[in-house]
Amino acid sequence: MWSDQIESDPVPKGETIFPRNHLLRSLPRDELERLVPLLHVFPLSRRRILQHAGVPIDHVYFIEDGLISVLAKTDDCDAVEVWLIGRDGVVGSEALLGIETTTLSHFVQIGGSALRIAVRDLNCAMSKSSNLRAALHGYVHAALMQSSQSAACSLKHAFEQRLARWLLTAQDRVELDALPITQELLARSLGVHRPTVSATFKVLQGRGIFVKERGLIRIVDRSALERLACRCYRTMALSRNLWQRSETRRKLVVALSVLGAVLEVELWVQ
Ligand SMILES: [Zn+2]
Repeated sequence: MWSDQIESDPVPKGETIFPRNHLLRSLPRDELERLVPLLHVFPLSRRRILQHAGVPIDHVYFIEDGLISVLAKTDDCDAVEVWLIGRDGVVGSEALLGIETTTLSHFVQIGGSALRIAVRDLNCAMSKSSNLRAALHGYVHAALMQSSQSAACSLKHAFEQRLARWLLTAQDRVELDALPITQELLARSLGVHRPTVSATFKVLQGRGIFVKERGLIRIVDRSALERLACRCYRTMALSRNLWQRSETRRKLVVALSVLGAVLEVELWVQ
């Protein structure tokens, strides 16, 4: 069962902050400086629920370090992961759409830290900054695309491919060579039994793709992992940071995505 205890450590007041979060880093310096007094450093303790399902969303968390699994409940005592959040995003994005609660839980898979801001403060800042608005709305769109692709992946692709996609995505989010993750949590996240993860780990280790080191998984052959992953990884990577690209490139990526979807439907109905 997922832990549902919330971290209640006091939040130190943020003073000078140099964000590592991609959304914050994308802002012009003057806009970031106006936002900094509203941000507070918040520790992310491993195996905690950062945002509970059904609980009002009071704060938005810009992830600085660590990895958050967004979980959809599948029965009374279990849940599966529908997308991952790292330095690329925020927890609490539903609040940006005016939604007060979510049916999803946000579980700290890898500990780290976040910059927390009250929803009312963020809404006020967004009303004054088109750059902040574009970054956050773009992220909401990317998260929707990723959760949709994740659902499709679970239905269509082999576990080995899904595991490769997960490891690549996790590494992209945390920007670490070695990932502090356990087979148990990985099995729960991907909705499989632990022996399935263990057997696939043995195969991938045998191919020299990664090694296990005292609770860490060190990826040593990322190219091999990319060849192994299903195309969902590339589709998800394409949707990341789409908002940061020029309008021409955004339109091109969307057009190619639509074209790809149409071709797949054509092939499917034949
Ligand atoms: Zn897939």
